[in-house]
Amino acid sequence: MTKVIDHINNSSKTLFSFEILPPVKGQGIQDLFSEIEPLMEFNPSFIDVTYHREEYVYKKKADGLLERKSVKKRPGTVGICAAIMNRFKIDAVPHIVCGGFTKEDTENALIDLNFLGIDNVLALRGDAIKTEPTFVPERDGNHYASDLIKQVVQMNNGLYLDDDIENPHPTNFCIGVAGYPEKHFEAPNMTTDLKHLKMKVDMGAEYIVTQMFFDNKKYFEFLERCRANGINVPIIPGLKPITTKKQVTNLSRVFHIDIPEGLSEAIEKCKNNAEAKEVGIKWAIEQSKELMQKGAPVLHYYSMSRSSSIRAIAEALF
Ligand code: FAD
Repeated sequence: MTKVIDHINNSSKTLFSFEILPPVKGQGIQDLFSEIEPLMEFNPSFIDVTYHREEYVYKKKADGLLERKSVKKRPGTVGICAAIMNRFKIDAVPHIVCGGFTKEDTENALIDLNFLGIDNVLALRGDAIKTEPTFVPERDGNHYASDLIKQVVQMNNGLYLDDDIENPHPTNFCIGVAGYPEKHFEAPNMTTDLKHLKMKVDMGAEYIVTQMFFDNKKYFEFLERCRANGINVPIIPGLKPITTKKQVTNLSRVFHIDIPEGLSEAIEKCKNNAEAKEVGIKWAIEQSKELMQKGAPVLHYYSMSRSSSIRAIAEALF
């Protein structure tokens, strides 16, 4: 299959891609396929599939005491990537994270991906477990996304953790990473965050996908600062059409991003979610048009596995 960087390098126009979430545990894959299907006519170049680490839930036992259980609510990232590639003949990009993985777990996951013919990964640190205040890596796990990139690059060079392996097979992963036009929330300032982003690129990341943003000015400023700091790989804008009234506050809180006044005021005036969705689509189309005009390599949409807004946007643009 084709690497994301080759899709970009082989195209003279802005490409279309989107991100989906694995279904909640216990659900089949059919609903997800039904959401992806209507987007196929717009020729997406690749589909990202998120990874969701374990979280702790508390279950009441018969004796009334609470039992803490670790659960993965959305397992199946690798299987879904393989299923998408098989069904739609399109590249799937699994997200891989440091959190919850020892280096050996990561190595084994990368071996599975390699066997499946998946040559793309988006390498991330991942967030802290929901009930914990800060991110804690596994013992003998990777701490930062840059450490994870180092491990993938080593495997691309045929270096496995066990150096006794005879004739090790080199993998061939194209590595993407996350970037934050409004700064990662833990970074003390943009300068420090960009230093860490540059580290990821210097370690071998071939492109960057941004956190969602609703004001293109933030993306253009970020692009400029990246270039001034010697970060020269393609920077793919990530866009999320607002679909409900509540998202104005929720997205801002969860993703540490600003919602421009014009957008929050327009959503506030909406009588219901159907109206909010229309405002969200219009806003995303305007953002997309400008980004396209100014030569964004790909427009990458956070679909949250719901395709109707993304379809309306794609109809207007691709
Ligand atoms: P890093 O690049 O490791 O950075 C994390 C923080 O540490 C930053 O503040 C950085 O400045 C700092 N830092 C980096 N290196 C160093 C160093 N050497 N020393 C000191 N500080 C350092 N999360 C998921 O769980 N699953 C997903 O599928 C997922 N997909 C995502 C897709 C995109 C496009 C984006 C933008 C985010 C995604 N996330 C996902 C969220 C992501 O995991 C979190 O934002 C996480 O908090 C940071 O991940 P990172 O890879 O950017 O981390």
